[in-house]
Amino acid sequence: MATLEKEVLAQVNPYEAALQNFDMAADQLELDYDVRMMIRNPERCLTVNIPVRLDSGRVESFVGYRVQYNTARGPAKGGIRYHPGVTLDEVKALACWMTWKCAIVNIPFGGGKGGVTCDPKKLSSRELEHITRRYTSGILPVIGPDKDIPAPDVYTNSQTMAWIMDTYSMMKGYSVPGVVTGKPVSIGGSLGRNDATGRGVFYTVREAASFLHIDLKKSNAVVQGFGNAGTVSAKLLYDAGTKVIAVSDSRGAIMNEKGLNVPEVIAFKERTGSVVGYPSAVALKTNDDVLYVPCDILIPAALENSITGENAARVEARIIGEAANGPISPEGDKILFNKNVFVIPDILCNAGGVTVSYFEWAQDEQHVFWDENEVYLRLEKIMKSSFADVLKIHTQRKVNMRLAANMVGISRVADATKLRGLYP
Ligand code: NAD
Repeated sequence: MATLEKEVLAQVNPYEAALQNFDMAADQLELDYDVRMMIRNPERCLTVNIPVRLDSGRVESFVGYRVQYNTARGPAKGGIRYHPGVTLDEVKALACWMTWKCAIVNIPFGGGKGGVTCDPKKLSSRELEHITRRYTSGILPVIGPDKDIPAPDVYTNSQTMAWIMDTYSMMKGYSVPGVVTGKPVSIGGSLGRNDATGRGVFYTVREAASFLHIDLKKSNAVVQGFGNAGTVSAKLLYDAGTKVIAVSDSRGAIMNEKGLNVPEVIAFKERTGSVVGYPSAVALKTNDDVLYVPCDILIPAALENSITGENAARVEARIIGEAANGPISPEGDKILFNKNVFVIPDILCNAGGVTVSYFEWAQDEQHVFWDENEVYLRLEKIMKSSFADVLKIHTQRKVNMRLAANMVGISRVADATKLRGLYP
């Protein structure tokens, strides 16, 4: 990416972008002014100071946020991100997207998000635990299984969730597993949560292929980012008979036009830490080259802004399933739309993760746990019907799938808001 474009992207305020998306969808829906005033802005933004004694003996202070964007349809739901670049505006934007995402899959949650501005790569496990526990005590008054339920996001994981659950439970005096999702299974996590996002991606791609009369068995696919979401999507496509011809990770990209043996590539990556060097494939020059391999299905499952105004013209795919959050910039989107590429937007395509988080919460609340098969069946049903809801707006209103998805999510939040009325 050119330096200039990087600078421009860096200047795009994610919250402004989220509001622009909202306004576009609200205009299409002809949403009345009063409802817009009730749902356009976050309900609550909490900023907390997190003083922590580091391993060196010195006390350092970090800043943490928790944003509850909208709770008209249920408790706020959204992950917690640990990253040096975390800002309140970024957390607000992510909380806004979570609101529409939960409404699209029609689960009884609103949207929220949290973050701590820190560099987890420079912190020990003990320091991370102390940051997590102090942050939890800071946001404790606003979280809870009926109020706001955090989950993992960038650089947080099931261990982070276990610390949050423990801190919250210690304050309450009894175990409250339903306060977070993405926990280890042994303390109330759900079976099937680990591959939920990739599975959801696969289900939506399969629906898109069927809509476009593309036979998965006669198709090929490319996956950018061979991590959690990427490997699961690749494996399910492979199992469905699709040839997965190229994959990449942060170290590089590999290709085999005849189709990669995906389980073997996964095992290779587990052994060596990368897909690079896998013997039955050729290496691509740069890891970005994976995006330009002509294919039926492209799954960006790595980072934001992989496809931009600068490189979208070089993408030759028929379907793009956005496993990652925000992999296509607005400029890239326009170019792909003009090229007639069918884009399954992130807030629909990767919503399998939050859907199984909902299952985890529901199981915790009932103290009854499901087997993996039940989780998958319920997930498939929800992903299929959500895809159909968005597709209906896409075809009826002749808008792209991203706008259609926003319209579905925002209209459901608006309906709940109108029914509940304005307090006081
Ligand atoms: P992950 O860390 O498991 O995997 C990310 C992968 O991307 C890694 O293999 C990494 O090597 C690779 N990568 C990084 N930079 C790359 C580059 N320049 N080119 C190619 N590959 C590169 O993360 P994940 O959980 O799979 O998340 C991936 C994306 O999916 C993120 O955008 C995340 O926000 C989104 N997402 C994940 C979930 C989930 O439940 N895991 C849910 C919703 C959205």
